[in-house]
Amino acid sequence: MTVYLNGNFTLVEKAKLSPFDRGFLFADGVYEGIRTYNSKLFRYDDHIKRLIKSLNEIKMKFIDTIKLEGIIYQLIKKNDIKDSAVIYLQITRGTQFPRKHSFPHESTGPNIFITAQNLNENKEQLINGVKVITDVDNRWMRCDIKSISLLPAVLANQKAVEAGAIEAILIRNGMITEGTNTNFFAVKNNCLYTAPESNLILSGITRKVVLELSKKLDIEIKEDFINTEDLRSFDEFFITSTTKEITPVVQINNLVVNARKPGILTTKLQEAFRKLTNQY
Ligand code: PMP
Repeated sequence: MTVYLNGNFTLVEKAKLSPFDRGFLFADGVYEGIRTYNSKLFRYDDHIKRLIKSLNEIKMKFIDTIKLEGIIYQLIKKNDIKDSAVIYLQITRGTQFPRKHSFPHESTGPNIFITAQNLNENKEQLINGVKVITDVDNRWMRCDIKSISLLPAVLANQKAVEAGAIEAILIRNGMITEGTNTNFFAVKNNCLYTAPESNLILSGITRKVVLELSKKLDIEIKEDFINTEDLRSFDEFFITSTTKEITPVVQINNLVVNARKPGILTTKLQEAFRKLTNQY
């Protein structure tokens, strides 16, 4: 596998990064995950906008995002990825020695690491839906920044896996925020509910696309937090992300949803999403 690290394409076995990288020491960095449809980066501008926002928020300098696009396409080619690719960009505040919390000197460049891999879509989950659990949202108050500091999300997701589920839906003060790596949606009386954009969720690109499609399909949208006590009153649920697209949720903890069948509106949105990505 060929990866990109700080200006060079190299075999992953040969990629070297100092253990004094601030990402390793302090989780001082941000990341982005992008995918392709029909060999084209999907909503690249949206992903780059989000990356720039994340960089700005952690007071890192703007990186050359025009050059970045070319690098990503080269990486896809070098890895001979013919089907869908998933690309991860990891950007840290660089390498600093000796260890010190405050920022390194301006001349310290960021460390930029990019991978491109074949995306193994889970078709079964898209068709039949998944089980999720709920867990406490233990993350910090800036979930709008795509920080590489993911420990609360890692722990909650592991809890989900150990419970035979694929995702943990996070709850802060009785309200559902989002999943550990997905946004969460619910449907009631043909109206779509999802948490509003704020510091408490990541503004998912798939979330944005789903809201755009819903508007086109004349589906009513309420960007409101869902109270966990009201979960039973909803008809359908789904989660969204770049890699999971629109995945129906058919069980939340012990609550079986719609006799374990993906809902009508969920399926309608999946079809609209498929149409969009097929034409991309
Ligand atoms: N929320 C969180 C916390 C995430 O990590 C992700 C994955 N990037 C998402 C939502 C979904 O975002 P997107 O649709 O842009 O992949």
